[in-house]
Parts: sequence; structure tokens; C-alpha cells
Amino acid sequence: MIPVFTFAGQRVGVMGLGKSGLSAAAALKAGGATVLVWDDKAEQRTAATTAGWALLDITSNRLDITALVWSPGVPHTRPKPHPLAIKAREQNIQIVCDVDLLARAQEASSFIGITGTNGKSTTTALTAHIFKHAGRPTAVGGNLGTPALDLKALGGLGTYVIELSSYQLELVPSLALETAIFLNITPDHLERHGNMDDYVAAKKNIFANQRHPRAAIIGIDDAYSASVRDQLVRAGLHTVIPISGKHAIAGGVYVENGVLIDATDRRPNTIADLRTIATLPGEHNWQNAAAAAAAALSQGIPGPVIAAALKSFTGLSHRQELVATVNGVQFVNDSKATNADAAEKALRCYQNIYWIAGGVAKEGGIASLAPLFPRIRYAFLIGESADDFADKLEGKVAYDLYEDLETAIEDAGRRALAEKLPGAVVLLSPACASFDMFKNFEERGDRFRSEVRNFLPHAADPMTESLSP
Ligand code: ADP
Repeated sequence: MIPVFTFAGQRVGVMGLGKSGLSAAAALKAGGATVLVWDDKAEQRTAATTAGWALLDITSNRLDITALVWSPGVPHTRPKPHPLAIKAREQNIQIVCDVDLLARAQEASSFIGITGTNGKSTTTALTAHIFKHAGRPTAVGGNLGTPALDLKALGGLGTYVIELSSYQLELVPSLALETAIFLNITPDHLERHGNMDDYVAAKKNIFANQRHPRAAIIGIDDAYSASVRDQLVRAGLHTVIPISGKHAIAGGVYVENGVLIDATDRRPNTIADLRTIATLPGEHNWQNAAAAAAAALSQGIPGPVIAAALKSFTGLSHRQELVATVNGVQFVNDSKATNADAAEKALRCYQNIYWIAGGVAKEGGIASLAPLFPRIRYAFLIGESADDFADKLEGKVAYDLYEDLETAIEDAGRRALAEKLPGAVVLLSPACASFDMFKNFEERGDRFRSEVRNFLPHAADPMTESLSP
């Protein structure tokens, strides 16, 4: 844990007592602040008082605190302002999140921030992997995994690689990034941000307050992001590095026909052939790789070091995670695909797909995936959306409905192994949230992984198999 000394001797509020809120409370206390906590849920308050924390009196007219550390998961402005946030603002109390406290506590370190609608976690993990590979002391966290103040203290030589949601970006006035990555923007989270302009504006905060070399790495594969790039270039305050997973860009870092190229010094330099890197399949991952490579280049890591790091990247769980290959059939866990957009990314990567899908569908269901149906050999439908998905597939893709994931996996595996089609893939990419059958997408993916491992030893004989660890 990293103590935060900025508020020594002062009273500070902590709103939201999840993992990051409790970690911030402990860090502030260790730094000598008097910490007063609050959560809208009574059971969280009870747990906190039992653990010895004093409650913030939110009914009092004067909050009597210097700062309020807000958990980004709790809406503070949109869709409607939270009463505690209104009160704090009226009393000129600064509202920040834990990443802001980390920035204050480790001011001498270098900070790389990553935002975007999709690909944040992959890009964050890959960027950190490259920096570690290059021998730089590195810590990775933020929205992904470890709360900011539970990371290691790195001091002047270290680099923090921080995933930043748009919610966090509204709460980090002290964060000065050396390198900021803005991957892409598609309509998402509009229920919270209200409209696209507000959503883009929240994400653009990543470029506010940057410090030398003020590297602004920006994906230009969608129209919103491309226009943000144009605005930055016009303003002339940043070193703008455009990136693309699809095509060449003068002065940028891009992937063309699967090959990652650095054209930042005008003479294009090949870094690596991403088609040979199994953990980064598809154009979407090529965008992530271009962004991570650009971040490394912006901080002096040379191309060959980046290439070697890309080769040893193991990928993240639940995102097109290759669980096993048996008799040429790949078993892929893409449980993180909780909407059709994400499932589309995976479906595009394969042919002869034995597709396990379903759960709690988002608006529009799988209608947008119709152009990819010819890639699907057979569908195995689970969860609440099964009937609706069956309707959409009717007459186009053969399917069966299942009560549970395990039976769907066994049937999909048996069919794929029997049919022996080239490049066959048993793919869990549900295009749905998981909460009708599972606690979260992680539990769904873990069940897929363990069931595949249970089932495979009994499935085919003789087998050439490779189970990933
Ligand atoms: P995030 O942290 O932003 O949710 P992840 O890296 O966890 O992103 O990826 C989540 C899903 O989003 C992946 O399973 C994939 O389907 C899709 N995805 C990943 N990278 C991109 C990208 N650059 N563009 C579009 N979709 C992507």
C-alpha cells in the first residue's frame, strides 16, 4: 500500500466502500489524515464501522472535509447529480478518485494512461508487459485489477501503467500523464454519460494536463477518435501519434496486412508480424498492439525490444483465451464478450465456428452479427436469450438450446471433433451479460475453462492435445 501524505492532519471523506474506496481510506490514514467514510449501502457502512472506520455525517450542513475521494463506480454527476457530490461542490470541496491520490503520492514516477470504449485492459496489460520486458520498474492497475493505492511505490525511475475509465477521468485533476492512449470510441455507457458529446468529452480529459513528452496516442479507426486527433493537432500542444490496426498512416504507428510498422520518424520501420502472435488475434488486437508499441516508442523503448515483448505476451483471461487445442480443434474462452460488438470481434477471427452464445442480451441482440453467420457451423444457445437468438438464426444457422453451459460445451466439443473441419473452433463468445446464470463473466469463463479440461480427456482418442496451463 502507498501512503498518501498530501492530506496529513486534515479531514478527508471517502465515498464508496468497495475495493478501491477501502484501499484509499487505508492509504490516507497511513499518511496521517483523519478519514470519514460513507457508502449508500447500509451493509457496506456496517462492515466499515465494524472494521473501525468513522462515518462521514452526510446530513450535516457543513461536511468539514478538505477533499472527497469518490469511487468512480458511483455516479456523481450523470445521469443525475448525487446529493453528496452536490453538497461537496457547493462547499468547494475537491472530489477526486484514488488514481489522483496515487499521482500525488508518486509524483516523481512516470504515468501512462489508457482509455477507450474497448481494448483498455488488453492494451494496459500489453503496455505494462513491454515496459517490464524492457527492464523498466513497472506497476499496472487502475480500473483493471489492483486498486491504484495497493500498487508498489516505484519512485523516480518507475512507470505506472493505468487503465482509466471515463468515470475515473472526471476525477483526476492532479494526474499528469507523460503518455496518454485514447484507443477508440463507440456509443457505450450512454445511460451514464447522457449523450455522445459528454462521453467523448469525458474521455478527452485524458489529454488534459499532460507533461513532457506529452505523447498523445490516438486511434483513428473510428470517426469520433479521428476528429479528436484533428482537434489535438490543431491545438498544437501535444506530440500526437496516430495509430491504426487497419491501415498505413504517415507519422504514425500502424498495422498493415498484419504487420506492425513504426512510421513516427517518417521512414517506416517494421516492428513485428502480428499474424504470428496467437495471443493478439484480429484487427481489434492489432489496434491494441499499435497503441502499446507507440507508448513504448514514445518513452524510448526500441522496436526490437517491443517485438520480443509482443512474442512473449500471454494475453488476458476471458478475451479470446486459447484454452486447448485438440486434434486441430481450438477451444476459445471469450466470456468477456458481453455484447454483440465484442462477439463480432471474435467471430471475425475464425471459420467453422461451434458457437456457444446467450445470456442476458443487450438491445438489438445478435441482429448485427448476421453477416458473420456463414462462419458459424453450429450454435449452442444458453441462457435467457436462447429463444430470441434461435429466432435470429432460424433458417441460417443450425442450433440447439441448452439448460446449462456444461452440456453445451460437451455437445459442441463432440461435434467439432467428429466433423474434423479445417480451423474448427469451439468458441464461447456469448454476446450477452452473464448474470442470469453466473456471478459475472469471469465465473462463466472459468467454468468454460474447467469444463473443457474435464471433457477433453474423454472426448477423442487418439488425441494430440495441448492444454494451456
Ligand atoms: P475493456 O477493458 O475496454 O473492456 P478488453 O481489453 O477487456 O477491453 O477487451 C474486451 C473485449 O473488447 C474483447 O474481448 C474484444 O471483444 C473487444 N476488443 C478488444 N480490443 C478492442 C479494440 N481495440 N477495438 C474494439 N474491440 C476490442
